[in-house]
Amino acid sequence: MEAPYKPFGQAIDTAAEWDSPMFNLAQEQFLSAANIINLDTNVRNRLLYPQRSSMISFPCRQDGYDDVETVFGYRVQHVLTMGPTKGGIRYHEDVNLGEVSALAMWMTWKCALMALPFGGAKGGVRIDPTRLSRRELQRLTRRYTMEIIDIIGPDRDIPAPDLGTNEQVMAWIMDTYSQQVGHAVPEIVTGKPVVLGGSLGRMEATGRGLIYTVIEAARHLDLRLDQSTAVVQGFGNVGSNAMRFLQEQGVKIIGVSDVSTGLHNPNGLDVDALEGHVRQHGSLEGYGDAEAISNAELLELDCDILAPCALQNQITADNAERIHCKILAEGANGPTSLEADRILTEKGVFIIPDILGNAGGVTVSYFEWVQDTQKFTWTLKQINERLHEILIGAFARTLERSTREQVDMRTAAMIEGIERVASAKALRGLYP
Ligand code: NAD
Repeated sequence: MEAPYKPFGQAIDTAAEWDSPMFNLAQEQFLSAANIINLDTNVRNRLLYPQRSSMISFPCRQDGYDDVETVFGYRVQHVLTMGPTKGGIRYHEDVNLGEVSALAMWMTWKCALMALPFGGAKGGVRIDPTRLSRRELQRLTRRYTMEIIDIIGPDRDIPAPDLGTNEQVMAWIMDTYSQQVGHAVPEIVTGKPVVLGGSLGRMEATGRGLIYTVIEAARHLDLRLDQSTAVVQGFGNVGSNAMRFLQEQGVKIIGVSDVSTGLHNPNGLDVDALEGHVRQHGSLEGYGDAEAISNAELLELDCDILAPCALQNQITADNAERIHCKILAEGANGPTSLEADRILTEKGVFIIPDILGNAGGVTVSYFEWVQDTQKFTWTLKQINERLHEILIGAFARTLERSTREQVDMRTAAMIEGIERVASAKALRGLYP
């Protein structure tokens, strides 16, 4: 049968601007979930691409005053239907439009799965932040903020930290935005320092949330955490906090890594000792009480819980057969490829997908935004209780859906998120 005539032109498959392995992964995950629920074709095609994508280039003056470099940055808003958009800003040398768009799409499903009043967004600048001085980082952040100032705002799009950015970067964004409007606007970003209107508990929220979901998964699998072992890839915000909360549950951490090295000690590693080493030396490299191994070897260690908390695309068809864990707890975004997903599911690995496992960060970011807009602060106890309630609710809904539809946890989580967005789209209708 001949394809139907499309008066508005381009066939959907020809949109090459976003083309990248990570965006293709996000699209394929979406399509596989959309097919299971027979999602309306018109809605499906709308959700396949971001609603707004901004690509910018801007000049950055190095500390040596005469040297000016051109830098590339992005801000992508996937869905504007649900409320303001929300998503982190990533500083990394590989950042590109496809990667940022994939991350924005995942944010949409994550916010919807948690029933937060946000659509997904993401931003990024293609630099290696570890090679910039503090002054260079500040200038770059302020100029990037100015370049995207027309599309962000407390009721439009609210940035947060991600890979390579932190509380200090959020403070500079908040200050730059506030200078432009003439008064302090703490609700323009989340994940900022508490003294500027940040929320208690936000720093550790992603790691804490991940372990709340690990506890639920262990209960489901009848796994005793105090007799379990874990391996954590990444020792930044998410990884170090995940390690701390696992340790609190009595889990023995036998492996951990950062960009510099992997560490293995079958007798267990201590998070305080590792943090002390990083404070003194800048990375895990050279830590004495463990064997140094590569990041690839780390992922293949025998353990009960494997928590990738660094980069995307770490578990692929190349190494999935050699992954030996009972629970894969995704702290990072997009750490597992589609092929690896299939292999691990066949091996009986219980996967806590990223949009569920690392949703603690955006959930407490939501609490931060609510506190800032209401000028009213909550206690840490209130925050952690509310975070726990939301995460275990989402875990239970996902597990129930996965059992009912006979699908893996990732597909179930996606279905829950997609359905909510699709029903909001149907209710709002089409303009004009
Ligand atoms: P971070 O910059 O604080 O830490 C990243 C860690 O990964 C560092 O220890 C770094 O050394 C390590 N790393 C970098 N490249 C590596 C490599 N090639 N191999 C092994 N380790 C490597 O970043 P973060 O905020 O902890 O984010 C980590 C992941 O979690 C990202 O995928 C991010 O999108 C995701 N995430 C973060 C949050 C948050 O609240 N920060 C929320 C949700 C998801």
